[in-house]
Amino acid sequence: MTERLYYSDSYLWTFEAQVIDRAEVNGQPAVILDRSAFYPEGGGQPSDRGTLNNVNVVDVITREADEAVLHVLSAEVDDRVTGVVDSARRFDLMQQHTGQHILSQAFVQAANAETVSFHLNPDPLEGALTIDLNTAQLSSAQIDRAEELANAIVFENRPIAARFVTESELQTLPLRKPPKVDAAIRIVQIEGFDWSACGGTHVARTGEVGLIKIVKLERRGAETRVEFRCGRRALHDYRRKNQLIMQIASDLTVGFWELDQAIGRMQSDAKALRKQLSEADTRLQQYEARELLESIEPRGDYGLIAHAWLNRDTAYLKRVASLLVARPNTVALLGSTGAALSLVFARSKDLSIDLATLLKAAAAQLGGKGGGSPDFAQAGGLAVTEEQLKATIEWAVGQVKQEAEHGG
Ligand SMILES: [Zn+2]
Repeated sequence: MTERLYYSDSYLWTFEAQVIDRAEVNGQPAVILDRSAFYPEGGGQPSDRGTLNNVNVVDVITREADEAVLHVLSAEVDDRVTGVVDSARRFDLMQQHTGQHILSQAFVQAANAETVSFHLNPDPLEGALTIDLNTAQLSSAQIDRAEELANAIVFENRPIAARFVTESELQTLPLRKPPKVDAAIRIVQIEGFDWSACGGTHVARTGEVGLIKIVKLERRGAETRVEFRCGRRALHDYRRKNQLIMQIASDLTVGFWELDQAIGRMQSDAKALRKQLSEADTRLQQYEARELLESIEPRGDYGLIAHAWLNRDTAYLKRVASLLVARPNTVALLGSTGAALSLVFARSKDLSIDLATLLKAAAAQLGGKGGGSPDFAQAGGLAVTEEQLKATIEWAVGQVKQEAEHGG
């Protein structure tokens, strides 16, 4: 059995140990030591990293069968090892994990909400830290109260102690979370505030946790997921958001406290402009349709209109086409290229030519795709040159003439 050195000293970064057994995990060598300061993954806290005789420890896991601590290595090591725990990674995890105990108790006192699960991503800057509370109803006043209380406990710099207790002593403690195991129970105690059964590593005083900041709430059925940051992660989050807010305020040439009004003004301006643009577009479509109707090519009993634009979208072509084919005995073959390819082929209901088939063939010539009904079809694709578009529309005009003569 491995003596777990982190139980009594969570700040022990180097230690000497003896290899007592060897194993293999996913093709990588692993060792079991007589004593270790490495924390294996468990209770929501990710495992430690570091080295044994300068060989990287890539994972630390508890073997289910016998609870042995497996140090998974990038290479083999000798029987005598000097272990070095990555203290920056571990301290971050201790800050976050202790912050979780404080915030969970704060939610019990401020909102009568119990923590049902805890997730701690090991990424020391961006990693998410969440607790799930057993309630879907949390007022913003309750959330602020929990956050205030948690930070008050931090500012009071209360001592934190972890120790194993007997069954009878356990009965006397106001535990927030009942133990899941019935072997020797380890209690993490935040003086006068919280007692939890926990095998994890914690800081020595609450002040080391630093700021505890709730950043996001998410309703999940009957539960609420609370995302938060502690210590350096809170600082990183604050720095990032402050930079972002100050940059946006500077771009909009307003103070950061005026951003909500400034964005409100931009949104209503954009809405008014969209309305004006849509009205101008409608007038332009009507104007273009009238002009095209003047240039109509009479072909016996029907009129044919063909036109190629630059930078009109499919919606625009469709509206112009609808205006044109409202006139009886009319065929309109419209296209646009530039940013993208658009084709709209339409005819009035009184004609019988199948424009869906013609449009598919025309689109295929230009590498586009589309379809529709025999009287109104559309296609889109990547931009082609104006010459390519005009050649294809001319080809389609030829097809319509041929079919009209053949059919008529
Ligand atoms: Zn814990």
